[in-house]
Order: sequence, then C-alpha cells, then structure tokens
Amino acid sequence: MNIVVNGKNYEVSKGRKLLTALEEIGIQVPNFCYDSRIIQKDENCGICVVEVDGCKKKACEIDLVEGMVVRTHTDEVVEERREILEEIISEHPLDCLGCEKSGECKLQEYCYEYDVHQTANNCPETLEIDDSNPFYTINPNKCIACGKCVAMCREQQCSNGLQLSEENGRRAVRAKGASKIDYTACMSCGNCVSVCPVGALLPKAKTSYRQWETEVVRTTCSYCGVGCQIDFSVKDNRIVEANPAKMDPNDGLLCVKGKFGYKFVDHPDRLTKPLIRKDGRLEEASWEETIEFLSTKMLDIKNRFGSDAFAGLTSARCTNEDNFIFQKLFRAVIGTNNVDHCARL
Ligand code: SF4
Ligand code: SF4
Ligand code: SF4
Repeated sequence: MNIVVNGKNYEVSKGRKLLTALEEIGIQVPNFCYDSRIIQKDENCGICVVEVDGCKKKACEIDLVEGMVVRTHTDEVVEERREILEEIISEHPLDCLGCEKSGECKLQEYCYEYDVHQTANNCPETLEIDDSNPFYTINPNKCIACGKCVAMCREQQCSNGLQLSEENGRRAVRAKGASKIDYTACMSCGNCVSVCPVGALLPKAKTSYRQWETEVVRTTCSYCGVGCQIDFSVKDNRIVEANPAKMDPNDGLLCVKGKFGYKFVDHPDRLTKPLIRKDGRLEEASWEETIEFLSTKMLDIKNRFGSDAFAGLTSARCTNEDNFIFQKLFRAVIGTNNVDHCARL
C-alpha cells in the first residue's frame, strides 16, 4: 500500500502500525513504550505523536490506511513532544555524566534532539535500588515508567516478575508482588534490561565504556543449538556487553547465558593455542605443527587399525554449523560413525 509522509510517497507493507512502517522507511519518530512484539502495552508515553490527515495521533496506535497523509515534524507535534520530555525530566535525576547508559539512552538522545534542558537537579535518588539479582540492577529513580520491561517479562518471558507501582509520588518499576526481584519468578534472562530505553535496568558486570567507543559484532550464541543471534559490543578487542539481535531465531530475546555469560571468552584459563604432549608434558605448539602432527598420526592409525579405531568428541558449546562439519570430518573423511558431543560424555 501507499502512504504519503512529509510530502513524499512511500510503499509500505500492510497490517502494521504506522510507527513500524515509519521505522521501516527510515523516518525517525521518538518512542519509549512501543515494541512491535508487545501485544498489550502497560503505558502510553505519547511521544510518538504525529499528524495524520490533519489530526494529531499516536503513531504506535494507528493502523495503516491506503493514501494516508502523515506529517512527522510539524510545529505542533514537536511542541507536544517537548512538553512530554519536560515532564519526564522534571522528576528524573540529573546524572548523565556518570550514568552507564549515557550515549545510548533514548531520554538523553531525545532531550538533545528537542532542545530540552534540565538546569537544576531537584530529583535526588530517594527510591531504594534493588540489586538482589546477581546479574542486573533495578534503579527505579531512573525509570520513566514506559512499561516496556513489564510487558516483555509478562508476554515474551512469561515470568511476570515486574510491575509499575506508585512510590514517593512517582510511578516506577518494581518487582511484582515481592520486595525484591530475586523473590519473584525472575529467570534472570535480562530481556527487561535489553528493552529499557534509559539507565533504570543495567547489567551489574557492565564494563565502563561509552557506546561510541565500541564496535558491534554479530555472532551466534555458543551455549545451545537454538543459535540465537547476539550483538556484542566490543571495546579494545574485549566484549563489554551483549544484546539480542532482532532477527530469527530469537527475535530480540536471549536467556541468562547468552545475555550475561560471555566472560568466558576472555577468561585467562581458556586455551588459545594447541597443546601437544611431549615426553609426558603438554606443550604449546603452532597450528602448522599441530595439523602436521595430527594428520601424520591419524593416517598411521587409520592404515594400521582402520577407521573405527577413531572416536570424535566435540562440544555442545560449538555452533550447530561447527558440529555439522565435525561429524562430516569423522563420517566422510575418517570413515567412522563414532562421533558424539559433550552432552552425553
Ligand atoms: S538514564 Fe539517561 S537521561 Fe537518565 S541519567 Fe542516565 S543517561 Fe541521563
Ligand atoms: S530478567 Fe527476565 S524474567 Fe527477570 S524480570 Fe527481567 S524479563 Fe522478567
Ligand atoms: S525500567 Fe526501563 S523499561 Fe521498565 S518501565 Fe522503567 S524505563 Fe521502562
């Protein structure tokens, strides 16, 4: 179908909300609470307001209609967005200098874009921080009550561990039905952390960095056969954060291992070079030496004892693709079905 945005014609896919269609054609409209995966939103931040056929509407709520005329940055909608931002930061702590979210925070980004300033810090952090979970911290003082984490936990993770509640005259995130998140059914998946647009939910083991110092590297999670896609933020050749990629098979979700369990990559105990046993001692060797050593020994064993003298053990921590190649090597090259992996050792 066709729509007109800011005076230009665009062809868009049917059956979507206007905000998703605008994102797809690369027109940025601010939003805090919207996520196309959420069925029942808990809050409506209202900042995605646009003009549709002459009337102000929330782009996240509007279904696409053939020929609709949309204006995303009229004076009126820009003014309405500024008012929403002013209201949010009137009760938000002024902590951007030290905040770990700085540089990738939507509130900070939009305040800059819409020229909204907070000049005095009238918002001391009075709400108690919940750091009972081993992997992430909940700081309700920085919550802007967008409700995204609540809906993600309820609808996608099915744990229902979070809620928005009133406290000291503010609406903010809290553990649902318990004083601390660790007393709920929270699975520590971190999907709430991944969707939070501000610094209210942050990984505990976050290395200090700013987003612009990092390079994003997409890879396949090595913990199980699902093959979730992860975007690692890498600074100085070290992983500093993991975020789920919004694509198949995980559609922007991870489990606790994929989200928080990446420190093994840099662990000093990890083998980074091959070892060959010489005179009873394991010694580091080059890859060239190792491959030469292995091929000589393997050919010799195969000639003397046959293919079934071999057994190959690989790891469930490798990707499916690596394991496929490994069994192919054993079946097609070495000629044995003696191949298995660590899940049944
Ligand atoms: S959450 Fe965002 S706006 Fe708030 S202090 Fe942190 S960086 Fe600044
Ligand atoms: S970590 Fe996962 S299960 Fe726990 S509150 Fe967040 S989304 Fe829910
Ligand atoms: S913690 Fe973050 S995602 Fe959850 S309601 Fe607050 S601002 Fe939104």
